[in-house]
Amino acid sequence: MKRGAEHSRVQRKGRERDLQTCQICGSKDHAEGHHLFDYAMGGAADEDNIVTLCHDCHQNVHKGLTSLFRF
Ligand SMILES: [Zn+2]
Ligand SMILES: [Zn+2]
Repeated sequence: MKRGAEHSRVQRKGRERDLQTCQICGSKDHAEGHHLFDYAMGGAADEDNIVTLCHDCHQNVHKGLTSLFRF
């Protein structure tokens, strides 16, 4: 599906913009792209919708332990 390729592209662009650095703690370990607004919730396939997080912070965001809108 086209959406899959677009998804990888924006994830990569978002991580390049953030210099592969976690936007919460500044770690460069296991940087991965998180969608601020999920596709299912109508989020755009756009790098503005991606924030780079390390694995730990990413888990915490999904568990609701960390707010992304603090920084
Ligand atoms: Zn982090
Ligand atoms: Zn995520």
